[in-house]
Amino acid sequence: METRLILFGAPGVGKGTQAKLLAEQFGIPHISTGDMLRAAVAAGSQIGKQARAIMDSGKLVPDDLVIKLVRETLASPHAARGFILDGFPRTLEQAKALAGIFKELHISRYSVVNFVVEDEEIIRRLGNRLVCPKDGTIYNTEFDPVEPGSSCPACGTRLIQRDDDKPDTVRERLRVYHAATEPVIEFYKQLAVVLTIDGTGSVDVVNREIRLML
Ligand code: AMP
Repeated sequence: METRLILFGAPGVGKGTQAKLLAEQFGIPHISTGDMLRAAVAAGSQIGKQARAIMDSGKLVPDDLVIKLVRETLASPHAARGFILDGFPRTLEQAKALAGIFKELHISRYSVVNFVVEDEEIIRRLGNRLVCPKDGTIYNTEFDPVEPGSSCPACGTRLIQRDDDKPDTVRERLRVYHAATEPVIEFYKQLAVVLTIDGTGSVDVVNREIRLML
């Protein structure tokens, strides 16, 4: 059976880490709108130019832009046998558009995994987060053997702090999450299976919990 998951929750709850793991475990693609947008920024494409300043300020890029990216990706053969969607939808408009895309693609079975973590814990985690700009692996200075200035243990590239993980931007991202994204869960409670996960455990514990619930 195909696995189709939407990972839902505030920035910093562990969606990206779990998405990467689950994608490997199920052998299906990890589709992250944040990663796609960062790749567009790095490539200097038209979309990247439009998105850069918005992302750096912690706000959401326009719905039509991300909806187009997701529509193209989900319609490709690459996603035909399942996917892990991470960071989309983030507005009611996007959720409605996704329902339309699923209809076009005859997708009727999917689950929404809702990660719950307190804001204080999120602020602490994002302050400790370092990312490999090459392979996208996420590290945390508290749990992993890395510190600011370290190289990626997997590929040797110098780890960076994302511009939007700086404290002021984190606060803005959380504000945007509570205002625009959190209410979307009500839409899914009416429409799909919502699995609520306590995201405060270790990576392994949260991963096991998700797989047990599927
Ligand atoms: P993420 O890596 O998911 O935290 O996304 C990083 C940034 O990319 C967000 O703060 C937004 O500016 C932008 N972004 C990612 N996904 C979306 C989306 N579904 N809708 C609007 N903006 C998005």
